[in-house]
Amino acid sequence: MVPDLDGLGVVVDVFQRVTGATARDPSWYEHFHHSLLHGLPGAVLYLILTIACGTRSPRVLGLVLISYHFHLICDLAGSRGPSPLELWPIHYLAPLSHAWSFMWPHQWPLNAWPNTVFTAALILWSLGRAVRNGSSPVSIFNPHADTAVVSALRARWSRYVRPGTAG
Ligand SMILES: [Zn+2]
Repeated sequence: MVPDLDGLGVVVDVFQRVTGATARDPSWYEHFHHSLLHGLPGAVLYLILTIACGTRSPRVLGLVLISYHFHLICDLAGSRGPSPLELWPIHYLAPLSHAWSFMWPHQWPLNAWPNTVFTAALILWSLGRAVRNGSSPVSIFNPHADTAVVSALRARWSRYVRPGTAG
């Protein structure tokens, strides 16, 4: 999710549209999304932040880089706009340079079925992992809520997914 933080300009755009406020650049989203954090400099920045937060495990840091680049590959495959002409490139060295820019001519729309199926599969995987390992993504925000979520998931799904020894 971190690369898409460069799309938060949409909040400014909507605010300006709703309030009628004027600004020098009315489209922050189009200007900054896929330009600030969708490349190697963003990945390195995120890696530095992860290390600064205390993570030293090479395995975790490797997974950070892999997941970051997996996001970029998924965007390259399926983040097109509604029109076939609205392809969205990845400028791998942006914002430093546009030297290594990639675009896939068969890029499918953001709301196309492959993205929906993949998202549903990831949610199911995440829920199955919560039942198995005793920890859900809710644990990021609140350990007590995570315990309740895992308990509810295990009560309903443990006959399909065997809980592990952790948790
Ligand atoms: Zn993205």
